[in-house]
Amino acid sequence: MNRAMPWLVALTFPFGCEAPAEDSAPADPYVLVLGVAQDAGRPQIGCRSNCCESARRNPDDRRFVTSLLLADPRSGKRWLLDATPDLREQVEVAEGHPVTRKAPGPRPPLFEGVFLTHAHMGHYTGLLQLGPEAYNAQHLPLYGTERMEAYLSQNGPWNLLLAQGNWDYRTMVPGEAVSLAEDLTVTAILVPHRREFTDTCAFLIRGPRRSLLYLPDIDKWDRWDTPIEEVLAQVDVALLDGAFFADGEIPGRSIDQIPHPFISETLERLAPLPRSERAKVVFTHLNHTNPALDEDSAAALTVREAGMAVARRGTIYPLGK
Ligand SMILES: [Zn+2]
Ligand SMILES: [Zn+2]
Repeated sequence: MNRAMPWLVALTFPFGCEAPAEDSAPADPYVLVLGVAQDAGRPQIGCRSNCCESARRNPDDRRFVTSLLLADPRSGKRWLLDATPDLREQVEVAEGHPVTRKAPGPRPPLFEGVFLTHAHMGHYTGLLQLGPEAYNAQHLPLYGTERMEAYLSQNGPWNLLLAQGNWDYRTMVPGEAVSLAEDLTVTAILVPHRREFTDTCAFLIRGPRRSLLYLPDIDKWDRWDTPIEEVLAQVDVALLDGAFFADGEIPGRSIDQIPHPFISETLERLAPLPRSERAKVVFTHLNHTNPALDEDSAAALTVREAGMAVARRGTIYPLGK
């Protein structure tokens, strides 16, 4: 990555936006993709199939776990959405974002806050990197639902980090926007997903001109009382759960116990929508087995032909002009 001009990592600009000139960084808030894989990343532990063996051989085939950086160049501030097991490397991807960020002192805050969707492996265990064995963050604002707060405050090692002041919890009320700037908000939206420890949120980010939905995990679209089409109509881009491409993808495991909308189901469901609506959809949270992770695969081609996309690390989604 070119650290001097980190905005050059932008590979695609949705909404027909022009890429920024090489000599000018984004001036308005934007979202940077830090990872696109399901909770356990790629290569995944113990997987000897080609999906992961090729990723071991070729660093370009590796994928960090799903996470986003929300950056506001106007203030130099930034926020993390989901703290993954790859956070150590993802902080490097986030280096220089936004370009106006000032980081004084030997141990400046890594972020102005961290938003957590839920307590499954890929979405919060990176918080350990903020504890005393690692960065030892000081009073980092941690945003999540009341159930997430209860889980973190009642279980180790999380409650120790809370007691030591590594973070301060900011309870989010689903449906109520958290204001990060006058024209920049994050709103939690509850979605149905396995509730072993906590409930699960999607996050709706509203910027000065554009909005983005981050919905990495949901059981099935028809188990949600809100039609995804309705939510899609309210945003400019939607990063959606694309864990599996189709049924039967994981040999030896029943997919019934780990329900997600198959990409094939989402394509079929959204097929009747106008192309402009389908063009908002970007799949993320892809399992290591998902063939759509490979750009040259028939699965990836099917996604493109449906007018949708697969998320890529380094892509920037502008929230302003
Ligand atoms: Zn997940
Ligand atoms: Zn694999």
